Amino acid sequence: MQAALRPQSLESPAPATAEPLFPPQLLARLDKNGPRYTSYPTADRYHGGFGEQDYRLALQQRRAASPAEPLSLYVHIPFCESVCYYCACNKVVTRHHDRAARYLDALSREIALHVQELGQGVPVSQLHFGGGTPTFLSDEELARLMGDLRAAFHFQPDAEISVEVDPRTATPERLAYLKQLGFNRLSFGVQDFDKRVQVAVHRVQSYEDVAALMHSARALGYASVNVDLIYGLPLQTAESFARTIEQVIALRPDRIALYAYAHLPERFKPQRRIHEADLPDRATRVGLLSAAIQGFLAQGYTYIGMDHFALNTDALAIAKQRGELHRNFQGYSTQPDRDLVALGVSAIGRIGNTYSQNAKVLDEYYEAIEGGRFAVERGLTLNPDDLVRREVIMEIMCQGRVDFARIEARHGLRFGDYFSRELSQMASLAELGLVNLHPGELRVTGLGWYFVRAVAMAFDGYLRTAATGASYSRII
Ligand code: SF4
Repeated sequence: MQAALRPQSLESPAPATAEPLFPPQLLARLDKNGPRYTSYPTADRYHGGFGEQDYRLALQQRRAASPAEPLSLYVHIPFCESVCYYCACNKVVTRHHDRAARYLDALSREIALHVQELGQGVPVSQLHFGGGTPTFLSDEELARLMGDLRAAFHFQPDAEISVEVDPRTATPERLAYLKQLGFNRLSFGVQDFDKRVQVAVHRVQSYEDVAALMHSARALGYASVNVDLIYGLPLQTAESFARTIEQVIALRPDRIALYAYAHLPERFKPQRRIHEADLPDRATRVGLLSAAIQGFLAQGYTYIGMDHFALNTDALAIAKQRGELHRNFQGYSTQPDRDLVALGVSAIGRIGNTYSQNAKVLDEYYEAIEGGRFAVERGLTLNPDDLVRREVIMEIMCQGRVDFARIEARHGLRFGDYFSRELSQMASLAELGLVNLHPGELRVTGLGWYFVRAVAMAFDGYLRTAATGASYSRII
């Protein structure tokens, strides 16, 4: 490890220490899986009893109650030219780019269905294209899709418009065209720069190509560039990952997402092509994560929480310092968690007190949309208990603090009575140094931010019943 990557401290620059970032006894106690809480209740709690009519009703109620309230939009583009073996996304692997035409027709219809229920020109403050691979679409196809969205909604002048970019399907010219279309934020899927790891996961892309794209993004004036990384991939070693971290730091992305690879081959077929013997063991995984955290902190990044880092000068880092972070399906955000209209196969949205997910199978999605119906196949309406727990969990994940009096005033309950069981769990997390319990307040400590999922999980009402923990990733 180079000097630049030597450990410094948990939260901000401080003298180097020989102490391990994560004490082994703590890891032993918290060796479990947990949700990422991009929504509460989590998506595995959605059910088929919530369908198209419920979604339509939620849209109509929104139109009646708050028609001018800005929306977020998410558009899912499922196509990928080749499969990455670690993939757990909903995607369609094909080299036939003509398959996009029918999909774009369906998206146009789905947008029109929303205009019918919400009205024309609802303001939009945030748009994200995810996948799959949004850059699977040609320039003309992307222009058509943006044209449809702009004709249906009113984009606010400062709207955040972001797209996930696969460096293997993008060029500097492509980035220039995306900028012309109005995109102002990019996210590059890097995962790891080591060639052996790239071959093992079937995703080969050179550092030089990514560096050229980063350079173009800067020159074009993109407001923010994010890089996604994954630790725990096959053949990753302390040395190889330290090189990747150094290379990423040299690129100076505004934001970095560092995800843990969750090996669930029984659920995700592509993962069966990963040799289990090549996976780093638990101690190595923890070492990879620790080295990455320490490297980023030493080089001017703030740990935002739940796998996310941002340059100390980035709006997200400033929002964290001010206690103004928010969280939505895309992760941490500076924008309030607004209603989210989600378009495309398998997309998950949130309208009022409901969550909904579109059909995951492309033919089922087409059948509904081409038949003039929303493609919602599951979801849920939050009950009063869900609402209070969602608020507590989001306060933990975003502010690292829960003000009991605020929750009591908003939900008409006595915090100590309603959450007596959870508070006794907090007492044991306090002994581990993850939280501090003060009269009327719970605070996540610097160490606790790395285990914030474990803190939030204590307030998850569903984990007590019919736990599906095996389907979640490890909390560290
Ligand atoms: S990781 Fe992304 S690019 Fe790779 S197969 Fe999955 S969705 Fe496609």
